[in-house]
Amino acid sequence: MIEDINRDVFVRIQTDLLVVGDSIMTDRHHASNGNYEDNDPQNQIGGIIPAFSLSGWLRHGMEKVIQERDGTACHPGEANANFRKDGVYNRDLDAGYHPKGDCLEDDDGNGCVILDLFGGFGNRPGKVMRRPIKFSPVRSSVDYTRGQAEGHYRRLNRNVVSRNEEDNREPLRNAELDAVANLDGCWHLSFRETKPEFVALLAEAIDYLDAHKTEFMHQLGGARNFGGGIVDCELVNPLYNESELRRVFDRGKGNTNKMDDKDDEWADEFLPEFKAELAARVEAES
Ligand SMILES: [Zn+2]
Repeated sequence: MIEDINRDVFVRIQTDLLVVGDSIMTDRHHASNGNYEDNDPQNQIGGIIPAFSLSGWLRHGMEKVIQERDGTACHPGEANANFRKDGVYNRDLDAGYHPKGDCLEDDDGNGCVILDLFGGFGNRPGKVMRRPIKFSPVRSSVDYTRGQAEGHYRRLNRNVVSRNEEDNREPLRNAELDAVANLDGCWHLSFRETKPEFVALLAEAIDYLDAHKTEFMHQLGGARNFGGGIVDCELVNPLYNESELRRVFDRGKGNTNKMDDKDDEWADEFLPEFKAELAARVEAES
């Protein structure tokens, strides 16, 4: 059954506002011609959202899924790291984590399912490759089958003003934030090795993140206190072919009968079998 799953899978991501600190890369130099104004709404700038924030967001969702199945997840940090707060590491270990890499000792050398997917211990590559999302404000130029999105780059300016009355709200500093508004598109993930438990964990984590999207801990990127990073997400049915994937994003068209059949097949046959494999692996690892 797992042979029917392509190594490339896609997660639909929709959000009104995404702020990922200073790490959005824009292609504004293409359009600037020396007279670029970065807050002009007429700007047709695209860019790239790097995978780091996306990866952390997904990993956290996956850790929760493992913990809800009574397993423990690999701690993302090194045991000897200099945590700023005393006891932080031990507190995490009590809350459903095992020390990073401890899981490598007892089985086939792949480690727990989180380490297997994300890698990172002793230069070990993870088995899921997380790609950046390329976004463009021009919908017709977005290629969803290559993990792209429609999105509108904005530079936000915030004035932080003094609270002292005699200062008359004098600005103390100006903060500029890169943001993407009205993002809708695909996050492209590739499995270097496709295992049924990987696909099940991805599907469950995306459901979990969608259900908990307004919780502070499960928002994406920065600016959470300002409503940035509340993300609607959904695993696009991995049985869809490329034209079906494109159709998901076509507002003018609904599912074909064939797509509905694939949705039933996915929900009734594939997913339950993959989830059983995930359950068995988490059980064996705890
Ligand atoms: Zn582990």
